[in-house]
Amino acid sequence: MTLNGKTAIITGSNSGIGLGIARELARAGANVVLNSFTDSDEDHALAAEVAREFGVEARYVKADMSRGAECRALIEQAGGCDILVNNAGIQHVAPIDEFPVDKWDAIIAINMNSAFHTTAAALPHMRKRGWGRVVNIASAHGLTASPFKAAYVAAKHGVVGMSKTVALETAQEPITCNAICPGYVLTPLVEAQIPATMEKYGMGRDEVIKKVMLERQPSREFATVGQLGGTVVFLCSEAATQITGTTISVDGGWTAM
Ligand code: NAD
Repeated sequence: MTLNGKTAIITGSNSGIGLGIARELARAGANVVLNSFTDSDEDHALAAEVAREFGVEARYVKADMSRGAECRALIEQAGGCDILVNNAGIQHVAPIDEFPVDKWDAIIAINMNSAFHTTAAALPHMRKRGWGRVVNIASAHGLTASPFKAAYVAAKHGVVGMSKTVALETAQEPITCNAICPGYVLTPLVEAQIPATMEKYGMGRDEVIKKVMLERQPSREFATVGQLGGTVVFLCSEAATQITGTTISVDGGWTAM
């Protein structure tokens, strides 16, 4: 599979799943644009590392995905793209009647609204290039719910719905739009939830991982960032040309239950 000459923008890709996806796209030959809201030497060094390892062009562009104008500017600064992966996301866990309004607004903005802005900005470039792939990283929580994750579940369901709409709007063009729905993947986002869960249930780390986190994941194994990256690469392949407007679960059987 070669994506030589294609340019991929991956939002929220200085860590976790986004970085894993960027690495797999680069391994398949794509030039990649990494992104987050910071602008550190480490961010730029990550891009240089990906370029060196896979022999592609890679750069880092700072843009805050909570701000619509910056989402759109990211696409323009990159000169458009062939592949857009909307991956930036945050989490906050609280009962809905105690859910902090600023956290609600930030989750909806970063996890859902950003995909609207980047997709709107990227589609005209894809049309000019005559090919495009939009891949939205939703979640098992785009298809099911869990208590205390109202904002996240709302945003991810929104992303799944948006993916279907974009697919219908581009159905007769060489452009597809799909959502990937991961179950639990061990990344900094998930790692950050472990201490509070340990305290809440009075459990050790391993017990929390097996009995609480992976309780809904029948495989009892985390999905890996490489597997997520591989799924994105598949959606960019010739075999996936007629796959549009759907979800692909990478969740060890979570949504089969
Ligand atoms: P992570 O915390 O490792 O990565 C999140 C990325 O988003 C980071 O690169 C971070 O810098 C970036 N980001 C956060 N706020 C941003 C902002 N305002 N502007 C730009 N970038 C921003 O988490 P992750 O687990 O790799 O999550 C990546 C995506 O996968 C998220 O959308 C998340 O909801 C989704 N997801 C994760 C899991 C999981 O188990 N880890 C499961 C399902 C879905």
